Amino acid sequence: MGISKSTAKEQPFEVRSSRVHGKGAFALRAIKKGTRVVEYLGERISHGEADLRYEDCDVNDNHTFLFVVDKRTVIDAGVDGNDARFINHACDPNCESEIEDRRVFIDAIRDIKPGDELNYDYQIGRERGDPPNVDEIYACRCGSPKCRGTMLWPPKRAKKKAKKRAAARSVASKPRKPKRGTSRAKAGSRVATRRTTRKAKRRK
Ligand SMILES: [Zn+2]
Repeated sequence: MGISKSTAKEQPFEVRSSRVHGKGAFALRAIKKGTRVVEYLGERISHGEADLRYEDCDVNDNHTFLFVVDKRTVIDAGVDGNDARFINHACDPNCESEIEDRRVFIDAIRDIKPGDELNYDYQIGRERGDPPNVDEIYACRCGSPKCRGTMLWPPKRAKKKAKKRAAARSVASKPRKPKRGTSRAKAGSRVATRRTTRKAKRRK
């Protein structure tokens, strides 16, 4: 509500089918590194509302249009969403998500050529209640030599020691540590519709 749709007018990409996953977003012209590509729009709802809405979602459904803004708010691009929702995940992406004033934007982090598919790292957080085949459900086929094989982050369940190291590292630099549960999911991550709540955790 009240969010400007002006970015849509000058949208520098088009949506068409992608080899990576369903539909994708492809640059219509050269996009310079640092360019704000599009705002991620959709209905702004609470985590609780997101839970209710996708309670019955199939656990094997890897489609997710939810984006965590912060502890309070999730953007559901399945309702009133714009084309930003079609930007696919990649492990070595040319864009990244940025949160500013509780709005989500997709910015280019590289120079992008016309025709290139736009993508960013979804960094979907792992959770205790994840099914054993969670990496299959969220398998990544981005095709990059740096592909980690999954849209989840971290790539594998971190051991305690590794976690400590990661925590120490994240103080100084970017790698943000995912938290457990959607309401505690890291801001700026896409989340799976089926794991929006704590109660989902116990499910196996
Ligand atoms: Zn990948």
